[in-house]
Amino acid sequence: MALIQNDKLRHIVRSGWRGVCPRCGQASMFDGWLKLAARCPACGLDYSFAHADDGPAFFALCLTAFPLVFIVVWIEVTWSPPWWVHALVSVPILALGCLGSLRPFKGWLVVSQYLNEAP
Ligand SMILES: [Zn+2]
Repeated sequence: MALIQNDKLRHIVRSGWRGVCPRCGQASMFDGWLKLAARCPACGLDYSFAHADDGPAFFALCLTAFPLVFIVVWIEVTWSPPWWVHALVSVPILALGCLGSLRPFKGWLVVSQYLNEAP
């Protein structure tokens, strides 16, 4: 039982991180940066089952943005740099961190929904 759960978790993490079809693993599940394809071009899996909704944004906020904000606050408290340092460092860190993590979070949610047959 635990082995099955570990395999399932490993499949969710790998396929979601790579953004590939949860059934065949051959083609990307995305049609663009965050838009899901209608179906898998390799195996024909219909992605209409997937409803990630605001899940990726929620996880990006909680797991990416909050830790990065602490880094930004730490920079401010430690060095009190001029405003342009935040414009050059803090804003890009937050923007790239949040935007960059949306796709893997969406991939993990879609693969998880596929494996758990969420309605
Ligand atoms: Zn496929």
